[in-house]
Amino acid sequence: MTGAPQAAAASAAARTAGAGAAAPRLRVDPVTCDGIGACALAAPDLVDLDPWGFPLIPRRGLAPAELAAAHAAARACPRQALWFQSR
Ligand code: SF4
Repeated sequence: MTGAPQAAAASAAARTAGAGAAAPRLRVDPVTCDGIGACALAAPDLVDLDPWGFPLIPRRGLAPAELAAAHAAARACPRQALWFQSR
């Protein structure tokens, strides 16, 4: 009987780890980016700008709730400097 809860917890942990590993990351090409800042205007809850106007984006996989904002930021970029990395 004590094995069932442990097995369920292990399964939940595996699902969580798997989801995190599959979560795409939003990346910026620092050579292409010219610091216009349109990405931060399009997704202010996801993208900040540094003092020079270059984007500061999360260094982790995106949560499902962040994907729409990430795509909006990528679409807004006139230099196409934002891209998605999936692992
Ligand atoms: S909109 Fe594009 S070029 Fe402008 S700061 Fe964002 S990533 Fe860089």
